[in-house]
Amino acid sequence: MPSIDLLADSAEVAHYLGVLSEKDFREARAARLEGVQRALEETRTDALVLSLGADLPWLTGYEAMPLERLTALVVLRGEMPVLLVPELEAPRVRPDDELFSLRPWAEGSDPYDMVAGLLGTAESVAVSDRMWATALLEIQGRSRQAGYSAASSLLAPLRGQKDAVELLLLARAAHITDLVAEEILAGEVPLLGRPEREVSADIAARLITHGLQRVNFAIVGSGPNSASPHHEPGLRVIAGGDPVVLDFGGVFALGEEPGYCSDTTRTVVVEQVPDGFGELYQALHVAQAAALREASSSISGASLDAVARDAISGAGFGSYFIHRTGHGIGLEEHEDPYVASVNPRPLGPYAAFSIEPGIYIPGRFGARIEDICVTGEHHAVSLNRSSRDMVIV
Ligand code: ZN
Ligand code: ZN
Ligand code: ZN
Repeated sequence: MPSIDLLADSAEVAHYLGVLSEKDFREARAARLEGVQRALEETRTDALVLSLGADLPWLTGYEAMPLERLTALVVLRGEMPVLLVPELEAPRVRPDDELFSLRPWAEGSDPYDMVAGLLGTAESVAVSDRMWATALLEIQGRSRQAGYSAASSLLAPLRGQKDAVELLLLARAAHITDLVAEEILAGEVPLLGRPEREVSADIAARLITHGLQRVNFAIVGSGPNSASPHHEPGLRVIAGGDPVVLDFGGVFALGEEPGYCSDTTRTVVVEQVPDGFGELYQALHVAQAAALREASSSISGASLDAVARDAISGAGFGSYFIHRTGHGIGLEEHEDPYVASVNPRPLGPYAAFSIEPGIYIPGRFGARIEDICVTGEHHAVSLNRSSRDMVIV
């Protein structure tokens, strides 16, 4: 991995992505499987069963449809994984003989018996956190000898350390998303007089136009709604004097490969700054910059959360910062590692996560600034590059 600094340069990132081949993706997955086998060995776990969710595409490039028929990758320690898929889904799987053997199951046969047959006498089985409870209960009912655990304890440290392919995709997703942030900051996305919902749809359309494959969300919270961190954009018409929180992101994908997420927030003010908002924004801006500066592989999620929180508390807004400072990002919009008081572990090298403190005064207004950053061996770099200054549009 060359220096992480190049991830901030959109031309460099586009260049590297342009020369990535299918072989690079296959090699990255092979390395991930080696990491999984090592983790099974180290934790003396006999088997790992992946199903719905991001663990499966991370390891195989294949994403299961969230339907009732079972898809399961059974990874036994020291053995070639087996991918069980409903027969009708099999054509969607890109086979990779070096990574897994494919076993389609026919309608009418029992895939849970097949899982039990593969698990054999396994005593410790880790299962995908996102596996449906109904599927887990079927598996547990047939393999009663085993103890079960959540796969995240095994996989979070692995998925939390992104490889070069993942970092390039995350950077590209961020750069595309920045183009829309820049359009907003330049006043090119009309806000005044439009309902939040219409602005949200506008942002979503622009994200696709600029090159994302999918939009995950486009939050537009205006006036008093800016004080609700996950506000659902509604019918409120944006007026002069409104602060507007705009938080949006989606997925960038190359070819058939699983896509990676983006997530950025900017807060702008329409026409004039309401009383008291300038001080709030200034305190937030300082806190977010401090956290970006202190981000590194060695700082813990809890300590980095405290950097932002202490700055906001010091400015007198502590009780209005009601969420964690950030979340990991990758195949999922929110994943490990969390920049939160509950995470005492170092963030580690090549982790990707948001830094998104916010200040929300109920009934009045709020603001949030969010960037995705990546840690190197020492420092960290922000993938999002649009201005964080308070902008009046
Ligand atoms: Zn959020
Ligand atoms: Zn966000
Ligand atoms: Zn976020």
